[in-house]
Amino acid sequence: MAEAAGGSAHAARAADTASRMAEVFTRTFGYDPEGVWAAPGRINLIGEHTDYSDGFVLPFALPHTLHAAAAPRADGAVRLRSLQAPEGDGFGVADLAPGSVEGWAAYPAGALWVLRQEGYRVDGLDLLVDSAIPSGAGLSSSAALSCAAVMAGAAVHGADPSASQVIRMARRVENDFVGMPCGVLDQSASMLSAEGHALFMDTRTMETEQVPFAPDRQGMTVLVVDTRAPHRLVEGHYADRHRACQEAAKELGVAALRDVTDLEAALAALASSELRRRVRHVVTENGRVLDTVDHLRAGRLRDVGPLLTASHMSLRDDYEVTVPEVDTAVRALLSAGALGARITGGGFGGCVIALVERERVEACGRAVEEAYREEGFAAPSLFEAAPSAGARRLR
Ligand code: ADP
Ligand code: MG
Repeated sequence: MAEAAGGSAHAARAADTASRMAEVFTRTFGYDPEGVWAAPGRINLIGEHTDYSDGFVLPFALPHTLHAAAAPRADGAVRLRSLQAPEGDGFGVADLAPGSVEGWAAYPAGALWVLRQEGYRVDGLDLLVDSAIPSGAGLSSSAALSCAAVMAGAAVHGADPSASQVIRMARRVENDFVGMPCGVLDQSASMLSAEGHALFMDTRTMETEQVPFAPDRQGMTVLVVDTRAPHRLVEGHYADRHRACQEAAKELGVAALRDVTDLEAALAALASSELRRRVRHVVTENGRVLDTVDHLRAGRLRDVGPLLTASHMSLRDDYEVTVPEVDTAVRALLSAGALGARITGGGFGGCVIALVERERVEACGRAVEEAYREEGFAAPSLFEAAPSAGARRLR
């Protein structure tokens, strides 16, 4: 009963959102859109810096969603509007090439470019974007935008790519058009997530499994702290960690660190203490993902807490991707009674998540805010994240 009522409330909300998007589109472009799409942001519950070692990840979709309303144009013109970003210049779909479009418009422009590269018959487009996903916070607003633009760009021209085709093309938008060498985790999470579940993904085989993850049903929640810490040299560090993993895999004679089965033997075989620490993180983190999945399958949600905290310590001490703002948040959350807490995302800033019992949420929030005041950090932003639905067409 409750489920059915919840379901129809969801449907009503989706219909409301679709109508509002359609109205704004009509006001903006002077005619009605052909469709409205939704794509959520994501958070990685656990499995950090494992994807480029062919390892395991466990993201879930946020309730924060990006919406796109679109209609095709037969004259090759592309007009893009976002309620969160300044208007860019119009351009022609035939002139698109990597580097030809700057700023946020590169994502939707890239979607059209990739679709054409892949043989879809795509003409011009009018597109309106409105998003509740904080941008640049490590919550994958860019993947949501790319996925929504690929889905909309294809559908208004009569094409119906599968979810895995959208994932691949949306990744190409960032890799080949925007110039961001991201993996496939963000797009997969946005496209494939299901409400009340986390998405267990093997990044070697791309196999996925929906694992039940509904903290609210067990009196808990995922509290997110957007530290708003300025990202520091992210790209250089990212490339550096990537290289270290490849180097270690080569020295150990495995295709990827995913294949290390005997950690002690691997550590003994590596001469560099830096590589030993990087390897220990990746191998133990893969183990923690598998343990987390076991606990979730068995409904033992509380047991996930210590794994989150262990993941953070590993990212702090062995992978060295934390900064004072995230370490402070994790310390404050744990001292205020969180069951577990960790940095999420690539690191060097971004967000912290904590598994928290409902009655401890306020205390945890206060503890973080107080600790930030004491340290003189800019005020963080806090919100709760219920595992939510993946991308879909709303109308
Ligand atoms: P993240 O994916 O973690 O949010 P990125 O730097 O990868 O951070 O992506 C953020 C970029 O995505 C923004 O700089 C902007 O170009 C684009 N973007 C995100 N949300 C919107 C939006 N609502 N409207 C226009 N562009 C957006
Ligand atoms: Mg991004």
